[in-house]
Amino acid sequence: MRVTLDWLGCATFRLTIGSLVVFLDAYLDRVPSAPPVGLTVDEIDRADWIVVGHSHFDHVYGAERIAKRTGAAIVGSYETVRIMAAHGVPEAQLVPVAGGETVRLAEDVAVRVLPSQHSCVWSHRGMSDAGEVCIGDLGVTHQEQQRRMRELFAWLATLGSEVLGHLRISAQGARGDGGSLLYLFETPEGSLLFQDTSGCWTGILAGLRPDVAILAAAGRGNLDGQPVQGSLSQFLAREVELLRPRRVVLSHHDDWLPGFSRAIDVAPIRAELRRVAPATELLEMGYRAAAAVFANPAKS
Ligand SMILES: [Zn+2]
Repeated sequence: MRVTLDWLGCATFRLTIGSLVVFLDAYLDRVPSAPPVGLTVDEIDRADWIVVGHSHFDHVYGAERIAKRTGAAIVGSYETVRIMAAHGVPEAQLVPVAGGETVRLAEDVAVRVLPSQHSCVWSHRGMSDAGEVCIGDLGVTHQEQQRRMRELFAWLATLGSEVLGHLRISAQGARGDGGSLLYLFETPEGSLLFQDTSGCWTGILAGLRPDVAILAAAGRGNLDGQPVQGSLSQFLAREVELLRPRRVVLSHHDDWLPGFSRAIDVAPIRAELRRVAPATELLEMGYRAAAAVFANPAKS
């Protein structure tokens, strides 16, 4: 059994566990101005499962075509599943979850689904540097957050027809994004946590103890429903203190939507993690690096 993890840009990964192929999110076909990841949906011939963290286009767009090409089943929130069904993915390939479920993926592989939080994307337009301290925006009501989100999406739609097309594919209705989920994979080689947006419930992270944690590094962190009072690096360090993983892999930190995103300089994150969790290794991956993710335990 060999477990490999391949970063495919934004928060999309391909996890192979022996012969089992699992996509974590599916946003491979990005706007032309984003750096290419070296793989397109049309080149994917094998997938057994697609596990989607939340229903925004930069996570779900492409899952509908991978599912149709390969017959893979999609695990995601009820909103993710609704969008996939609307794009013609057969119901038999859809597994709606809300957190609390354990989904068996193969005889010796299962994934636990846990409730999570989205980053406070409503609190800013554009991405801050990882070391930049942001404070304020506490206690903003849901209605005000939704109003700011509508403004943000209207602005994103002005970034060009490609972005508009991607937004339309994952068009959220009036009911919002359906919430964010965390996934804890249990494999014969170890456990892997997948997070695709910078938010969490601290009480849920505490005690999970995954061997490897994929953590999103973009935007304003969300701790228990409130924007982190500090930097993205400090937010990640807090998550790592709670999780105590052997290894961390970052996601969402590349320039996936030029004009909105930016390639995050990882240096402040590297320094903060070294300070608070010296035993945890930060595995810095390039696109399509296909790392043996559980191999060679860190002994720092
Ligand atoms: Zn999102």
